[in-house]
Amino acid sequence: MQSLVDSISRTIDWLYRWEIVPPIDTVVASVELAIKDFHYYKTAEQFESRLTNLVKALYNDTIKAPEFVDALGALIARQITLAYREAWNDEGGGQFPDYLTAASEAAILAQFDFVDQFARDIVDARIDKTPIDGLLARVPLWANRYNEAYNDAVMLITKEAGGNLEWVLGETEQHCSTCANLNGIVARASEWEALNVKPQNAPNDKIECGGWRCDCTLTPTDKRRTPGAYGRIEEAIL
Ligand SMILES: [Zn+2]
Repeated sequence: MQSLVDSISRTIDWLYRWEIVPPIDTVVASVELAIKDFHYYKTAEQFESRLTNLVKALYNDTIKAPEFVDALGALIARQITLAYREAWNDEGGGQFPDYLTAASEAAILAQFDFVDQFARDIVDARIDKTPIDGLLARVPLWANRYNEAYNDAVMLITKEAGGNLEWVLGETEQHCSTCANLNGIVARASEWEALNVKPQNAPNDKIECGGWRCDCTLTPTDKRRTPGAYGRIEEAIL
């Protein structure tokens, strides 16, 4: 954000040097809009309200399926891109690496089929006069894409560095037995990836809670690997 502010200041200075007085109200308004737009759909709640409106609009036939697909596709692409950038800022640093660009692009592509299917299901529900509730119930799953993409990126970054990840129990009051058994296990990022064990990611067939209410994390750590970590993870999961 600082670089955005810097470049705006430089532009205004430059305009003044040419004795052009920038219309400051317009500048402020457009900057505020840019910042708001940048952050707006970042949180799950904001994404959820935007997608809820899109689902209702398609269900009520105020928008058409291609419009819905474009809008949701753009939202998802943005979430995933932001999540990978943020993970890199938190756990990496320096120039954004090619392997993360490739992984984020693959993650975005992998969503397209689901987006198309969701649009078809909404149109079918309208035609069949099925209530909208079942469709709206799927919105939170989409809204969690940001967190999932962030976690995937952290796993990749840690793996690339040859580092370890620890399963840290979330703050959900009741934990499923799988998450409780995984709690505190430190294994190489490559091992977690090879076993394909991740928190959240509902519907998650590796953990008893299905990932629905899970807020556990795989957190990068300097701690030593748990003895027999790979086998212990295998024993813990379903
Ligand atoms: Zn959990």
